[in-house]
Amino acid sequence: MSDVDVRRAIALLRRRVRSGRLMFPFVDETWNPIVGCDLGFCVYCWRRAWARRIKYNMELLWKPTLIRDRLKKRFKPSTVVFTCTMGDIFSWSVLDEWVEEVFEVIRRHPDTLFLVLTKNPARFLRYDLPPNVLAGTTAETDLDEVRGIPYSEISRAPPPRERLRALADLDHPLKFVSVEPILDFSSPEEFAEKIAETGAIAVAVGYDNHRNRLPEPPLDKTVALIAELEKRIPVVVRKSLRRAWFEE
Ligand code: SF4
Repeated sequence: MSDVDVRRAIALLRRRVRSGRLMFPFVDETWNPIVGCDLGFCVYCWRRAWARRIKYNMELLWKPTLIRDRLKKRFKPSTVVFTCTMGDIFSWSVLDEWVEEVFEVIRRHPDTLFLVLTKNPARFLRYDLPPNVLAGTTAETDLDEVRGIPYSEISRAPPPRERLRALADLDHPLKFVSVEPILDFSSPEEFAEKIAETGAIAVAVGYDNHRNRLPEPPLDKTVALIAELEKRIPVVVRKSLRRAWFEE
């Protein structure tokens, strides 16, 4: 992808952010050709509460599945599609063939931007990524132990520091980092620098929305992080910002 295409992607994300849409505010629609996740069993996963509420089959929630019918979908140009929101596309048991089928659909829509967000970004390196993929990872923190809690007790996915390194190793111009739900981190400067080193063109920051009482940072520390990110990254999205639960 050329510089012009990168500038076009940044402009598209900025326009969408101003329009104040939900989820990530630049997203126009979601698309779930692969559902389920056996990657993280994260303590804060909103899908668990959602599944309980609607009495969804819990086994299916954690079992990655390709829904082939959804590969027939068509997408409008100049929109942003958030891909595989109901799981993680790079779950351990998702087959490479499934991912290739999803990427083939993405290639057929070169004027649409597809956000692919994962907690296992090392797997991006296995594929010839379509140029219109916004390759993203979640990094809730840059610490292995957060306020006395080992990160492995929060999620079994590869740890965030590894994810940031893997995204930095990816040779692709369109990258994204989600700092959500934010957990306490080293320092605003250090964490912002690690995120910038990935080459991300956009970052989103937000607190947990589901009262999980996570080991999160105080609000002033998060505000300082956002200020540092704004010095380094073209698009910075503020999501749910509030005082930490222990500040109330
Ligand atoms: S990796 Fe994502 S989808 Fe999987 S359990 Fe964690 S939050 Fe849920």
